Amino acid sequence: MNSPGASTETIAAISTPPGRGGIGIVRLSGALAASIAAQLVSTSQPLEHTHARLAEVRDAEGAEAESIDQALVTFFAAPRSYTGEDLVEIATHGAPVVLEFLLRRAIDLGARLAEPGEFTQRALLSGRIDLTQAEAVRDLIEAQTLTQARQAASQMHGALSRRAAPLKQSLVDLIALLEAGIDFAEDDLDVTPQNEIARRIDALAPPLATLEASFSRGRIVHDGLSLAIVGRPNVGKSSLFNRLVERDRAIVTAAPGTTRDTVSERISLGGIPIELVDTAGLRENAREKVLDEAEQIGMRRSREALADADLVLVVLDAAQPVTDDERALVAAVEGRPALVVVNKCDLLGSDSSQPVTPAEVAGVPAVATSALTGEGLPELRERILSLATGGAAPESGLLTNIRQHQAIATALAALADAAKANANSIPHEMILLDLYRSLWALDSLTGQTTPDDILNTIFSRFCIGK
Ligand code: GDP
Repeated sequence: MNSPGASTETIAAISTPPGRGGIGIVRLSGALAASIAAQLVSTSQPLEHTHARLAEVRDAEGAEAESIDQALVTFFAAPRSYTGEDLVEIATHGAPVVLEFLLRRAIDLGARLAEPGEFTQRALLSGRIDLTQAEAVRDLIEAQTLTQARQAASQMHGALSRRAAPLKQSLVDLIALLEAGIDFAEDDLDVTPQNEIARRIDALAPPLATLEASFSRGRIVHDGLSLAIVGRPNVGKSSLFNRLVERDRAIVTAAPGTTRDTVSERISLGGIPIELVDTAGLRENAREKVLDEAEQIGMRRSREALADADLVLVVLDAAQPVTDDERALVAAVEGRPALVVVNKCDLLGSDSSQPVTPAEVAGVPAVATSALTGEGLPELRERILSLATGGAAPESGLLTNIRQHQAIATALAALADAAKANANSIPHEMILLDLYRSLWALDSLTGQTTPDDILNTIFSRFCIGK
């Protein structure tokens, strides 16, 4: 990436995916964008902010030039464009040769080939968006479920920044209060009492902690979860796997198995991407082996799979007594997000419509299903979803990546240090160091607080200048 100084150059790129498309777009951003566009195509009317213009694309300049395509040209004037600079989008019929011709000509006319992400980087550098919003643009493009898209769009519109802003302001207020007490002590400004500092820190910590905790859901929506389906051979793991996958298969992408011996597929459950891992590869490999050996291999594979998984389904056969191995599997997932699935409930008599919960597996919640008839499958999906989300309701302004989480965790830790220093009557200069560390961490989330921000706060609140 280039330094901010280089952003005076005009950049150009083909913004649509490679290959033939229904339309293809060449994008230009920078001071020369409009003038280069005017030489690339002849528009029916002059370019005007946010207006689309019909245009001819010609194979050369001059009278003998021939038309090679029609285009729709849209102009966004600085600073009200995506990048904050003059920006032009030329939409053609999508022929790669035409797009490449336009790009080559744009470069001949003084533009430079844009680097990956550079349009968004310019939006960031021009202050159009902050860092969390830039991250959201990337997340939106990569979204695999509508829930992920919604989450990214809300962050792109500033949901996280808006949530962090009042917290940052409270911190700036507190810093200004202490700075003023130090810098303007001779101007009759009272030194802030210890209990006032404690009160302000105490008010700030809980919302920061709530924001930090939002990462658990934000991460799930962003990254998804893995769910291992484990159990003895023949209890119906593959059948359940197929049942869970079948409805959602059309809208999710297949992921290769994480290990040689497992099959995995990504589904979307309530918008949360869940990677199902089935240990069923076993049956194919073990067909010729004696059942005993297959059973042992199955249990070993189950133990391995459940060690790596976020969620676990331990599948039992409703018509079979629970074995020691199965009890061991259930014991291994106790206290973790896990469900016992009592499958083949269709084999029980009609008097057994309630979930069968053998006493041995009572430590883990159970669901009765039949992969054969589909009975209990809606409830199973619901239970998996509530395990995945921990039952938390959707909220806006979640932390979605480790960078954001680290920033809030650091801000909280520094705030705790400030609280401790204050409780120990440490001089305000030292408390300020902790508060500034907290502020810098919040800054790294959204954007910088300048010394002017703090000075302005001091002067606006304290009527200094008497
Ligand atoms: P896995 O080895 O645990 O993956 O088990 P499979 O899914 O391959 O199932 C083993 C056998 O049980 C197959 O013949 C399935 O058709 C049958 N099966 C699976 N689920 C059910 C169910 O809910 N009810 C009945 N009656 N049979 C089932």
